[in-house]
Amino acid sequence: MTSAAGRRDFRRIATEEAFTTPEMVDGCRQIVKSGWNSLDLTFWRGLLFRENDPRLADLLDVDEQRLARMDADGVDMQILSLTAPGVQFFEPGTAADIARASNDRLAATIARHPTRYAGLAAFAPQDPANAVKEMERAIGELKLNGFIVNSHTNGEYLDAEKFWPILECAEALDAPIYIHPRALPEGPDANYRDLGLWTAMWGFQVETGLHGARLLFSGVFDRFPKLKIVLGHMGEGLPYWVYRLDYMYPKMLRMMPRPLEMKPSDYLKRNFAITTSGMNHVPALKYCLEVLGAENILWAIDYPYQDCDEAVAFLNEAPISDEDRATIYARNAERLFKIAPADPLERTVAR
Ligand code: MN
Repeated sequence: MTSAAGRRDFRRIATEEAFTTPEMVDGCRQIVKSGWNSLDLTFWRGLLFRENDPRLADLLDVDEQRLARMDADGVDMQILSLTAPGVQFFEPGTAADIARASNDRLAATIARHPTRYAGLAAFAPQDPANAVKEMERAIGELKLNGFIVNSHTNGEYLDAEKFWPILECAEALDAPIYIHPRALPEGPDANYRDLGLWTAMWGFQVETGLHGARLLFSGVFDRFPKLKIVLGHMGEGLPYWVYRLDYMYPKMLRMMPRPLEMKPSDYLKRNFAITTSGMNHVPALKYCLEVLGAENILWAIDYPYQDCDEAVAFLNEAPISDEDRATIYARNAERLFKIAPADPLERTVAR
């Protein structure tokens, strides 16, 4: 169990925390009826129809049990984002409508609980020009803190030139894009189905790690050098592979459209931040601290899919310096997502 002293010592901002909205639930019910064999719908069928599964109620709730659990475990703030696969498996018009409604709800939730929530805006990459308008509204009018993209959109990744206006807009707004997992696109998914490997156990990381690698090696960070991408789950495998990315890259140059201006590992440190979502594992944390530095690591729970108390106990007890702990728990989130530092006198979370 967490010590009471440990609870008081650090502000805790959890950065990959899922919610959903009635509009998204309605949209999912509609496409579930279509009989489409998408793995993302397999996930949503579980949410909608599995008996005694509390997750849908937990995802819809932002005023009751979510806050009670945050209080119980000493979590000051959650950065909310629309749960996977977000709006990206809807047709473009529906996707844009659901994104807009979700962002409005998110802003209203934050207005009700300004010290407890921040939020990442959804947008529909299916229509990049319209996406940019919603991105500008979400930061400029709704004052949200960044963006959520659930990996591929109809099998395409954000490095594709049609999506560059989205990357350019995020860079200009100085707002990070959190690339969250979803199931692999149809086609490469056959060998992931029979053993359940398409899930968060393995396939989500394959899919999202590929997205990160595509962004890195496509050269979009030479075009948009201040663009910041956040990857969950200790970096979706990329940090573990960093020696090999640097070692193999010069040998593979002939296969690439253009050479990069820096080493792959330089982009990993400059343009990416990772979070600890769903990876409450001390050896992985120590490794990432060594190769990326504390300034590139943020804390996350992955509520309601993983346990809040375990995520808190993990970072409270990890054998790292308290300076690094404070940086990972909140300071990086304050800086990247422009969250005001807490006034010590206003830290009224029940502890
Ligand atoms: Mn998640």
